Amino acid sequence: MGTEAGGAIGRLTEALGKLPGIGPKTAERLTHYLLAASRVEVFALADALRAIKENIRRCNQCCNLTEGELCSLCADPRRDASVICVVEQPRDLAALERSASYRGLYHVLHGRLAPLENVGPEQLTTSQLSRRVQGGTVKEVIMATNPTLEGDGTALYLSSLLAPTGVRITRLARGLPSGSVLEFANSQMLADALEGRRAF
Ligand SMILES: [Zn+2]
Repeated sequence: MGTEAGGAIGRLTEALGKLPGIGPKTAERLTHYLLAASRVEVFALADALRAIKENIRRCNQCCNLTEGELCSLCADPRRDASVICVVEQPRDLAALERSASYRGLYHVLHGRLAPLENVGPEQLTTSQLSRRVQGGTVKEVIMATNPTLEGDGTALYLSSLLAPTGVRITRLARGLPSGSVLEFANSQMLADALEGRRAF
């Protein structure tokens, strides 16, 4: 772009280029778009970026991302608080919500056990999950971690962690191709996987 590295234009192009799916060409195109855009539009984008870091926190109950103490799902009295669906990431929760086939609550782990990457139970929200289940209102925990080696290992770990509570533990049916990622599954596949869930 002919700008010296470290200048405002160069910094923006570099920052945009770090986003997933955006190569150097697209980063440059976006930078030129923003240079030509109105102040209002660009400042609105800057404010939105700032807000996701300043205002978004983890729900006190399920660890989903939210702006309040509780996320909208945990705060909704129409949701069935006796069932918890355990997912790896907020985007998996979003995929299950899009399938519109589940009326219970969730628990977001914010990752999966990955011994090779030094991700152990302490790095996930496992202790919060344990406390929730011990609270007494939960009757069933559905393991909806991804059908990958690490997702399966995480579900296995959690099922033995929760076994002493006597709660019913189930796993999504294997309708999802092994190794597929929940967030990319279509709504009907997810609905079927939930419907056909089995005792762990
Ligand atoms: Zn919540």
